[in-house]
Amino acid sequence: MRRRGLLPTGCCYDDRMKLHANADFGPLPHHPEDPRRIEEIMKMLKKAGLVFSGSDSELLDILRDAPTKYMWRIPARPATKQEICTVHTPRHFDWVRELSDMSTRELRVLSHNLDQGRASLYVGGMSYEAALLSAGGCIETCKNVAAGHVKNAFAIIRPPGHHAEYDTPMGFCLFNNVPVATKVCQNEYPDTCRKVLILDWDVHHGNGVQNIFYEDPNVLYISLHVYENGNFYPGKPENPMIPDGDLDKVGEGLGQGRNVNIAWPSQGMGDGEYLAAFQKIVMPIAHEFNPDMVIISAGFDAADGDELGGCFVTPPCYAHMTHMLMSLAGGKLAVCLEGGYNLKAISHSALAVARTLMGEPPPQMEIPPINKEAARVLTRVQAAHAPYWECMRPGIIDVQELGDNAARLHDVIRGYQRQVLSEKYSMIPLFIQREVLYKSFENQVLVTPGLQAKRKILLVIHDPPELRVMPDLVDNTVDPHNGHVLDGVVSYIDWAHKNDFGILDINIPHYITHPEDIDAFTPRPNEKTLQRQILELVCYIWDNYLQLYDVEDLFLVGVGNAYLGIKVLLTNRDCKSRIAGVVNFVTGNLRPVKSETDTELSTWYKRNSLVYVTNDHACWRDEDLTKKVLKRRFGGVQRSPEVGLNRMMDRHAKEVFEFINERVSQDRSGNTTEEEK
Ligand SMILES: [Zn+2]
Repeated sequence: MRRRGLLPTGCCYDDRMKLHANADFGPLPHHPEDPRRIEEIMKMLKKAGLVFSGSDSELLDILRDAPTKYMWRIPARPATKQEICTVHTPRHFDWVRELSDMSTRELRVLSHNLDQGRASLYVGGMSYEAALLSAGGCIETCKNVAAGHVKNAFAIIRPPGHHAEYDTPMGFCLFNNVPVATKVCQNEYPDTCRKVLILDWDVHHGNGVQNIFYEDPNVLYISLHVYENGNFYPGKPENPMIPDGDLDKVGEGLGQGRNVNIAWPSQGMGDGEYLAAFQKIVMPIAHEFNPDMVIISAGFDAADGDELGGCFVTPPCYAHMTHMLMSLAGGKLAVCLEGGYNLKAISHSALAVARTLMGEPPPQMEIPPINKEAARVLTRVQAAHAPYWECMRPGIIDVQELGDNAARLHDVIRGYQRQVLSEKYSMIPLFIQREVLYKSFENQVLVTPGLQAKRKILLVIHDPPELRVMPDLVDNTVDPHNGHVLDGVVSYIDWAHKNDFGILDINIPHYITHPEDIDAFTPRPNEKTLQRQILELVCYIWDNYLQLYDVEDLFLVGVGNAYLGIKVLLTNRDCKSRIAGVVNFVTGNLRPVKSETDTELSTWYKRNSLVYVTNDHACWRDEDLTKKVLKRRFGGVQRSPEVGLNRMMDRHAKEVFEFINERVSQDRSGNTTEEEK
């Protein structure tokens, strides 16, 4: 057997594929799927010395002395109808073929009509011929890899293919090149090319590839694409029964788990997100699938510089992704061009991929931190595929399977807190009128008895306590003795109790336990949901309790995300004259307190609050941001030397107690004191 490492890298290109051009030419700028795309890539490969461009007389010497120095040209040929119809309907084939019989006028009208909406297609007099060459080039490229004539190969082809459905051309695509080549290889090499991985890093979802193989257990399709809730092209199909690019579309029947959609929530993704996706999802699943051949549907429209894609993947990142995929299937890797519309970006990206295929180690690169929303998407993809892949399972819980004996830990902890607060300080739940009752509300507000008669009251509104757990690294289980609950609020309540304050302890859960929820992972609520939940609660407590009391000294302490409650109260109720002071501990969003109707509110807030902000908060990293958060509306902001709520509360306890003591029963008629002037 020949050593694969000594084989050359193949390269398929044919100038005739440029002949697919828009019959609806006009004064408008070029269509993004510009015939020059493939030419630019080829030029770049020649310029970089990857493709031989000297005279034929040198060829024999090169073949003898350094057969892997250049890419080996793989000639493109027209695909046959039989090949195309391994994937497409004969009607679909005939529709494309008939384009070559149409008059220029007819083509113009057709192009004009097709070039809108989801169809998004243009056609010309030579489109059929170019599409056959594109599919045929793709077939030859993959066959050369499958048969071991080349080490790996790159097909620089157009029109692209991955949007073409089995029965409809769309999205600049006529025939779906990669599935056609996959089918042909599986048919011709049934023993050595049975399982194929198609990795699609085009910024758009390859709806056609997905749907062609949706029930096929032997083709694993993994796509990384911008989804934007179904608003990014190709979006949602008209027929709601046809699956779209969302991450819960995992395949059907025998193909369950063989369709992996890494659906980015927005544009703007880059190297950090793509490499994380490869490390956490793509490579583990790919290794478990263990393909016989890998094909990349290589659109370069996620590349930095492509305006249509709006993402920032750099050439070094493409090199690393290629390199990782080369570790599969004994290196049998075929790269087939799909989209990518910035001529400079596609040629640089393609060059990085081609170099890697030829054996050049991928360049050293710094990986930027991953976007949080994108990280959440990866967790959700993992959860969606946990039923089908062993490697996706660790850490994923099947909530439904847990049954009635399971309780959410935050409810257990709150129950425990209630018990402690009741034993030590006789605190009891405060009655809150609600439309719906959930477990998480049972102990949400706890108060000391006789609150209404107290001269001094401390209201603490806080997040659930922090949990620190160390899972067993083998199977991700957590023994209770390896978990710790950090609750910085306790010492404040203890102090308040000793100093004869009435106490209101409000717990703001990050999730309201609904028994019917079965998601393995529930993210924290977004700002809007949290605000709604808190607004209702604090206004209720103010209107029905605090406002009616004769309390002289009311202090508010906000801890973590829940400190939103203090902003909400100050901006929704005219209450500042009744509040003696505010203390906040902040690790997340800093919230401005200002009012259209009460112009004095921000000034009051600045004078009467202490706002401790964690030392690692983003606002300290940027001079402009720092200046901004020191403005009045953010209150008496201070950078804490500590990181995290618990440590901050510990560190600043003495200062806070002094701050409160100084303010107890002092004149708050609105006049400033001497030292403040
Ligand atoms: Zn694309």
